[in-house]
Amino acid sequence: MLTKPSLTCSFCGAEKAAGKKIVAGPMVGICESCVRNCAAIVGPARSDDMQTLAPPEEDELDSLVQRTQRVDDELGKLASRAVNELRALRAAKR
Ligand SMILES: [Zn+2]
Repeated sequence: MLTKPSLTCSFCGAEKAAGKKIVAGPMVGICESCVRNCAAIVGPARSDDMQTLAPPEEDELDSLVQRTQRVDDELGKLASRAVNELRALRAAKR
């Protein structure tokens, strides 16, 4: 199987088992809280957006970097597996 749904939020670590709703993507997941945060960030621009978002603390930034690296690793592995499966399909057609 190419993809495995995640039952944990890749952004904040919240778990479906703890009652959080998780939207599962290929090897990653996102909880409803993080979806709301993302919508606030990428949604229609408001002039007061920058004032309503408090700047993150240093340890929050470190944690964000670690989580981003984990998601990046997972996406890299997924892309690698997809390429290998496509190569196998191409080889089988020969
Ligand atoms: Zn989350």
